[in-house]
Amino acid sequence: MSKLTITKTTTKHYNIQQIGLDMMCFDESYRRIRGNMRNKLFNCHSCGRNFEDGENLSLIITDKGNKMVCHKCGVEIKAELEGE
Ligand SMILES: [Zn+2]
Repeated sequence: MSKLTITKTTTKHYNIQQIGLDMMCFDESYRRIRGNMRNKLFNCHSCGRNFEDGENLSLIITDKGNKMVCHKCGVEIKAELEGE
């Protein structure tokens, strides 16, 4: 007998309150400003991918502070937020 297991993962570690799609560009001035900060935000908070030069970044405002995500994740998060 096989055992049927259904796993549904909808874990969210933080609540997104707002998203600003393509608010910033990952360019030299971004890296210069953020580079001195403790929380550099040089990679996507959602998929973990490192940002590439010239990439559009989206700002998400969560209950645990502001985070940056890549364009692809930003679009998905925005759709999810507006769908609720
Ligand atoms: Zn991403």
